[in-house]
Amino acid sequence: MKILENHPVENSLQINSISKYYIEVENKDDFHKLHNFILKNNLPVLVVGECTNIVMPDFFDGIVVRPLFNNLNINKNYVSVGCSVSWHEFVLKMIDRSIYGFENLSLIPGSVGAAPIQNIGAYGQDVSKLIKQVDCFNYEDGKYITLSNKECNFSYRNSILKNNNLIIYNIDFHTNNKKIFNLEYQSIDKYINANNVDVNNLSLKEISNIICDIRNLVLPDPKKVPNVGSFFKNSIVKKDEINTTYFKYDDLVLWQLDDQYVKVGSARLIELIKNDINTNSSVFIYKNHSLILITDSNASQADVLKFANTIKQKVFNTFNILLEVEPMVVAS
Ligand SMILES: Cc1cc2nc3c(=O)[nH]c(=O)nc-3n(C[C@H](O)[C@H](O)[C@H](O)COP(=O)(O)OP(=O)(O)OC[C@H]3O[C@@H](n4cnc5c(N)ncnc54)[C@H](O)[C@@H]3O)c2cc1C
Repeated sequence: MKILENHPVENSLQINSISKYYIEVENKDDFHKLHNFILKNNLPVLVVGECTNIVMPDFFDGIVVRPLFNNLNINKNYVSVGCSVSWHEFVLKMIDRSIYGFENLSLIPGSVGAAPIQNIGAYGQDVSKLIKQVDCFNYEDGKYITLSNKECNFSYRNSILKNNNLIIYNIDFHTNNKKIFNLEYQSIDKYINANNVDVNNLSLKEISNIICDIRNLVLPDPKKVPNVGSFFKNSIVKKDEINTTYFKYDDLVLWQLDDQYVKVGSARLIELIKNDINTNSSVFIYKNHSLILITDSNASQADVLKFANTIKQKVFNTFNILLEVEPMVVAS
């Protein structure tokens, strides 16, 4: 186990962030040493993967834990994968072995271990549909626990694993060899029609390539442009409580959930008000996707949150809708 003091924490927003302690856990023996260290120091703990969904503080007065487990074992009906394997690399390996269900989740940044935390999803697929079980170490009580899919209590961008004391070190995924594609999502359908794609002869790899093409058109590469993906969730509100003084329902993207409630596309809300937002010098709304905040690599956590709050306030004043931040915001 490596314990580093006052160590930088790399993150995709490129906030200059330092942690009092930064610990790399490389095997299961390390977990007990880690548990003792945590008990002795009584500091806040933050488990990280690749930090593509975390807004880090400039200084974290606590212990950052980076578990490094790179195993990948394919069994008869499931595959066991270590938490630090890159999500996209893993998806490509599943595609190579003709295992279905992962292709729509191509190119989502980050590690395998973080995937169940917010139940990552895209283009009509959620990782919760693929997970068999999640192996964890509880750094508070020093015990191991395996959670079945059901016990993870997955929902839209959420699970029981969020804000927990658990370190996920391994995940078992179901392996499905039956040819079932999920091409219903609107932007996939649009791409297929626009490019005259013959859906009857598509391979898994070709679907993955289509997803990558679509994503590359609208999403910035976090290795080149600092960002954490969607900064706000879509809100669920009562339709008649939306303020329609400035914009009509038809101007918005609404998914009717029942008689009263609708899910509101946050990207469209921001699109409609973004010209009224004064940007500071270091944080901006991404030109191809209004839900994504990008920086010029010089932003602090405070700069990012201040800009996000300006957007939240403007959206609230215009539509009476309170946006909720999607990535984890870590206190200093
Ligand atoms: C350009 C871009 C596009 C994105 N697109 C999507 C998308 O389409 N769909 C989607 O769902 N998300 C998307 N995201 C968000 C991000 O890719 C996911 O949330 C991803 O799972 C984060 O992985 P990570 O390794 O970087 O996790 P981190 O950012 O390091 O951590 C995220 C959360 O997981 C916890 N965590 C991480 N690893 C572990 C572990 N081993 N054990 C316990 N807790 C852990 C952290 O404490 C934190 O709460 C996007 C992000 C970017 C930058």
